[in-house]
Amino acid sequence: MDKVRVATVWFSGCAGCHMSLLDIDETLIDLLDRIQFCNSPITDLKVFPEDGVDVTLIEGAVANEEHLEIARTAREKSKIIIALGDCAVTGNIPALRNGMSPDRMIEAIYGPETTTNGELPYDVVPRLLDRVRPLHEVIPVDYFLHGCPPPPGVIAKALLALLDGATPELVGDDLKFG
Ligand code: SF4
Repeated sequence: MDKVRVATVWFSGCAGCHMSLLDIDETLIDLLDRIQFCNSPITDLKVFPEDGVDVTLIEGAVANEEHLEIARTAREKSKIIIALGDCAVTGNIPALRNGMSPDRMIEAIYGPETTTNGELPYDVVPRLLDRVRPLHEVIPVDYFLHGCPPPPGVIAKALLALLDGATPELVGDDLKFG
């Protein structure tokens, strides 16, 4: 049986959602019989396979131009996109910077009053977007897994249900599968 190809992406988030994914413990071992991790911080592969993946889980909010570009590539290369955790779903903590000027923030961090050369590092640091956005504001998202982070059991149930062809639906605080 062909394995389902899964990618995971890490935008503006604390990596807690990826930790929660790894915390599904033995279920992860069962899943590995059925899925193949492609590009992911877990595998350290950076690029989507040419022929795409079945599912991409995206952690974190969209905060800079590089995130925007990767989000668009992820949508193009993935049959299903899952927003993993509250930063991806709502913007959450990274969005607390909204309302501040990105240029003034960068100037304050890298400008002449703070660094010895005072040069803004746009050759190596992606430009910040005018405001942090939840994932669904920049690409269509198929499923949303709430939580900060989503509990490991919820992630496991969602992945197993998708593998079994069920449709997850949030009922109250729990996922049900039709
Ligand atoms: Fe971290 Fe919570 Fe954001 Fe996940 S949703 S990246 S755990 S802050």
